[in-house]
Amino acid sequence: MELERHIKELAACEPKDAPFISLYLDTRPTGEPGKHPYEIFLKNRLHFFQREFEDSGEREVQFKQAWERIATYLEHELQQNVHGVALFSRAQPEDDFFLALEFPRPFENRFVVDSVPHIFPLVQFLDHSHHYLVMVSDSEKAKLFEIQFGSIQDVREIERSEAEKSFRGEWAQMHYQNWKKDQTKKFVKQKVKILTDLMEQRGIRHLILAGDEVTLAQIKKELPKWVQDRVVDFTRLDPHVENHAVLRQTLETFANYERNEQLDTLAVLRRELYADGLGVVGTEPTVEALNAGQVDRLIMAEAYQAPPGWRCQNCESLYVGPEVGPCKYCGQTTFQAVDLREELIRKTVLSGARVETIAENPWFVRQGGVGALLRFR
Ligand SMILES: [Zn+2]
Repeated sequence: MELERHIKELAACEPKDAPFISLYLDTRPTGEPGKHPYEIFLKNRLHFFQREFEDSGEREVQFKQAWERIATYLEHELQQNVHGVALFSRAQPEDDFFLALEFPRPFENRFVVDSVPHIFPLVQFLDHSHHYLVMVSDSEKAKLFEIQFGSIQDVREIERSEAEKSFRGEWAQMHYQNWKKDQTKKFVKQKVKILTDLMEQRGIRHLILAGDEVTLAQIKKELPKWVQDRVVDFTRLDPHVENHAVLRQTLETFANYERNEQLDTLAVLRRELYADGLGVVGTEPTVEALNAGQVDRLIMAEAYQAPPGWRCQNCESLYVGPEVGPCKYCGQTTFQAVDLREELIRKTVLSGARVETIAENPWFVRQGGVGALLRFR
């Protein structure tokens, strides 16, 4: 699933007058056909919002329309084997929005109404989606596995050209060794081309290369720099091993890698903070860095609780605190109260920077649970 693209699309939804519904659900079935445990949750939240929007004129109509689109989806379009959905709906005249994303994993139930979509659960999901490519190969064949959400999404096999086998005759005897060398090189290049294309097309950020020592060394030499930077591990694996064994072995490797990555990120952040360099920590400094376009990577604890915040309705700059004066960037005085955690993420995604979530780290929580690595100061 192209989750990253959807997250960008959602982050790009500009705040409008009409209420924007973001709904995350655990849609695992109960056993009783047609019954879902989320129904009571949904009913309660719906009643709350219906009372909220009662007699609000246009907004009441818009909320109703946005909700109806979601209700139709849940009733008629939701697939049986889907364990989690994220639904986004807004009935803004001439700027309607509806998006339904289905997942093999459940979400914690959440029903939010705001001026923009809430995307933190999606960002978190993406960060934990364990999306990587494995190539297991030797000199004769290669097998590529796209792995995500703990299972194999796609398998592709590449065989070395059959031409070699028909290479006969005296001339062939003399030149066979050279020719064979050349063919091996070609095959390595072909493998690298296919895996590079796949990573680019599917937006896969991580790669595990497996095989015998000689093959791995040959491939390593051919990898473009950006792919080299994404290699998580080189593993010795027999290319004839069963698919489930590839999955089992690499899942473990990848989980270890992710844990270390989080620690690395925090170590880099800490070093920058000590050196008074390219790092900030705490809500206010992070907000300021985002406003100034300095953020290269936003780092957020999963348990981060944002204080009250504001968005300038003119230039979209963010502010922290219970009150806010004239915007220091554009001078305007109209602000909208916002969910600052969502705004931090939205602004980061919009700027093309990355968001990294941190599971649990006492040091980071003590420092405010949010921070950023900067592009410049
Ligand atoms: Zn402003």
